[in-house]
Amino acid sequence: MKELQYGPCGLFCGACGADDCGGCRSDRIDDSIRQCKFRNCTKERGLDFCCYCRDYPCKELYEFMNDKWPHHGTMEPNLKYIKNNGVQKWLDAQQQQWSCKGCGAKIIWYQKNCPCGRQLPAWEVPV
Ligand code: SF4
Ligand code: SF4
Ligand SMILES: [Zn+2]
Repeated sequence: MKELQYGPCGLFCGACGADDCGGCRSDRIDDSIRQCKFRNCTKERGLDFCCYCRDYPCKELYEFMNDKWPHHGTMEPNLKYIKNNGVQKWLDAQQQQWSCKGCGAKIIWYQKNCPCGRQLPAWEVPV
């Protein structure tokens, strides 16, 4: 379980499989997260999320949101949802979305099968 399940970039850490990380806003993070430009930039600007930035989406964020990774493609709609509905409603919806519809177990990006046997509509890992 991630303690703080979201990044200011709009990624839902709850569906990330990195078990050694507690989530972007927790203290249990590795160096790559500590050095993340989006994380540091929002902190410097005093923003909870990039969608509240006057420069949103900046070039680097835009390129990241539109790179080859399907889960990065969730950031733009996520940030829009957060702006319209608030973070708690978004987290509740994400927790629903990233749970197995059969047994309720937590599922992660690119996971193809749930331990309960249910097939999941997973993205392909890009090459
Ligand atoms: S990309 Fe950066 S801001 Fe987004 S979740 Fe990862 S570390 Fe956090
Ligand atoms: S959108 Fe704004 S706050 Fe987010 S990384 Fe770009 S410049 Fe920083
Ligand atoms: Zn299941």
